[in-house]
Amino acid sequence: MRTKKQIEKQGYRNIGLPDVTPPKNNCLDIKCPWHGVLPVRGRVLLGKVVKSKSQKTVVVERDYNLFIKKYERFERRKSKIFAYNPQCINAKEGDIVKIAECRPLSKTKSFVVVCKL
Ligand SMILES: [Zn+2]
Repeated sequence: MRTKKQIEKQGYRNIGLPDVTPPKNNCLDIKCPWHGVLPVRGRVLLGKVVKSKSQKTVVVERDYNLFIKKYERFERRKSKIFAYNPQCINAKEGDIVKIAECRPLSKTKSFVVVCKL
């Protein structure tokens, strides 16, 4: 599945997520899930990039509804997630992105951007 031959043939690795489109650009980033050796596993989330000033890191904000049993209603919540931004994807502020869980890359980063929508 993750052989060198396959990478040479189609240009990217199979990361095991069927509903994610691979990037068109190539990169030499070792922490890229498509062209490097970073395995992704766990959760896949959808969010909006709110900050992309730091190098190869984006802040992704996610809106979700939490059901409050006492009031039988949903409460709108937000969370900010730091994610690794590989060169081939290069997400900017305002982009809607899909992020996938990976191993901890730093103290605050354990997600990586896998595609732009
Ligand atoms: Zn890449």
